[in-house]
Amino acid sequence: MDKFKQFLMNNKVEHHFDFDLSQLSSIRLGIKVKLAVFPKSRSELEKIIMKLYKLKVRFKVLGNLSNVLVVDDKEVVFVITSKMVEEFQLIGNRVKVSAGVLLPKFCEMVRRNNLKGVEGLIGIPASIGGAIMNNAGAFGYSISDYLEKIRVFENGEIFDILKSEIKFLHHFSNLSRFVILEASFFFENENEYDIINLTNKFTYLRGKTQPLGLSLGSVFKKVNGMSAGFYIERSGLKGFRIGGIMVSNKHANFFVNDKGGSIADFLRLIGYVQVQVEKQFGVWLVPEIEKVGDFNETFSRSSHSFEI
Ligand SMILES: Cc1cc2nc3c(=O)[nH]c(=O)nc-3n(C[C@H](O)[C@H](O)[C@H](O)COP(=O)(O)OP(=O)(O)OC[C@H]3O[C@@H](n4cnc5c(N)ncnc54)[C@H](O)[C@@H]3O)c2cc1C
Repeated sequence: MDKFKQFLMNNKVEHHFDFDLSQLSSIRLGIKVKLAVFPKSRSELEKIIMKLYKLKVRFKVLGNLSNVLVVDDKEVVFVITSKMVEEFQLIGNRVKVSAGVLLPKFCEMVRRNNLKGVEGLIGIPASIGGAIMNNAGAFGYSISDYLEKIRVFENGEIFDILKSEIKFLHHFSNLSRFVILEASFFFENENEYDIINLTNKFTYLRGKTQPLGLSLGSVFKKVNGMSAGFYIERSGLKGFRIGGIMVSNKHANFFVNDKGGSIADFLRLIGYVQVQVEKQFGVWLVPEIEKVGDFNETFSRSSHSFEI
C-alpha cells in the first residue's frame, strides 16, 4: 500500500484518506473509507488500476454511487470515476465517451448533435461505466441499445469487447469482472425538435412517478414480471419508516432518506419490507441495489446478501 501511496503522490493523482463516501452517495449513506482515489481522465484511470493490479492491492471502481451502499472497506482502495473530465469524441454518428461521464450530460450531448436513442435515460443519475455495468434503462430504453463496444481492463490487460460478446438483461450485464474505461455508441439521426419533445415527455413522467428526495432508485428487482413497488404498496407499506428512512409515498420501490437516516435503518427497512411482502404474497423481494463490502465472499456485484 505504501508503494501505491507513493505512486499517487508522484503522479499528483487526487486522493483522500478516511474519505466519507456518504457525501457522494445519492442517498447520502456510506462509511468512511481508508482511501478514495479520483482519476481525472481515462488515461489516469488506466494508470491507477494498472498500478493497483501490479502491486496486488484490491480495489473497487465506483461511478456516481447511485446504486451502491458501501458498508465496509476492508483492505480495499476505492477508485471513483465521477470526477473524470467530460471526454467525448464524436465522429459522424459514432460517439466515444469515457466511463466517468454522467448520463444526463451524455444524453444532452447526444441530443445536441441531433442523434437519437437515449431520450428515456436522461434522468438516471449514473456514470457511463455504472450504467453499462447495470444495463441501466427506463421507458423502454436501455444504455446497451446503441452500444457498439467497450474498452475494458482485466488482469493487467486492456482490450475491447463488442456488444455482441456481452450478455445484457434487464438492469444486468455479465461484465462484473471488468473495469469499464470507455464506451462507443452508434446513434441514428433525428431532428432536434422531436428529440426534445420525447426527452421532455420522459422527464415529466419521471417527475410524476418518482420522488425527488435522496434515494438509490428502485430498491428491489421485478418479481414475476411485476414491479416490486406493486407488492410493497399492496402490503400497505407506503410511508412506513424505520429511523430516518421511509418507503416513498410516491413510489413504493424507492426508499428515501428524509430524516438523516443511517445504513442500519436502510438495511432494516429492506428486511422488514421483504418479510411483510412474503407474508402477504409469498414472494421474496431481491434487492436491485448493491451492498458493497462483503469482500470475504467475492468481489462480485452479484453477491448481494442482505442478512439483517
Ligand atoms: C433517483 C434515481 C433514479 C434512478 N432511476 C433509474 C432508472 O430509471 N433506471 C435504472 O436502470 N437505474 C436507475 N437508478 C439506479 C442507478 O442510477 C443505476 O443502477 C446506475 O446504472 C448506477 O450507475 P452509477 O454510476 O451510479 O454506479 P455505482 O452505483 O457507482 O456502481 C454500480 C456498480 O457499477 C460498478 N461500476 C461503476 N463504474 C464502473 C466502471 N467504470 N467499471 C466497472 N464497474 C463499474 C460498481 O463497481 C458497482 O458494482 C436510479 C437511481 C436513482 C438514485
